[in-house]
Amino acid sequence: MKKHATKEVKRHYKRVIDFGCCISRNPLCIVHHCHGGSMVQAWGNKSQSQRGISDFLVIPLHPHYHTGQEGIHTLGVDLWETMYGPQTELLEWVNNLLDYDIYELARKGKNGFDTD
Ligand SMILES: [Zn+2]
Repeated sequence: MKKHATKEVKRHYKRVIDFGCCISRNPLCIVHHCHGGSMVQAWGNKSQSQRGISDFLVIPLHPHYHTGQEGIHTLGVDLWETMYGPQTELLEWVNNLLDYDIYELARKGKNGFDTD
């Protein structure tokens, strides 16, 4: 059965999307669940999954940088991070814009997901 995001997660996605793409600042963007690459050093092997380790560890990406020509899912995490920077730094940018701590929420555990 497919899990759906909780209200808290949906609210978080909306906040993150409202910041605009973290690469291009384009307001058209969707959430990407950070995983692999720099996330492995920071969070361990469980972050290898494409769904990431938490619904709170997401960054806003324009489709071009997500699944498009220069997308993280197209190029692969390692190459993409050398071009656009570590996901851990982009998460830091997101966290600094919020009035709550995404790392603390992530440590509390996953709340279901409806996108990758
Ligand atoms: Zn993604």
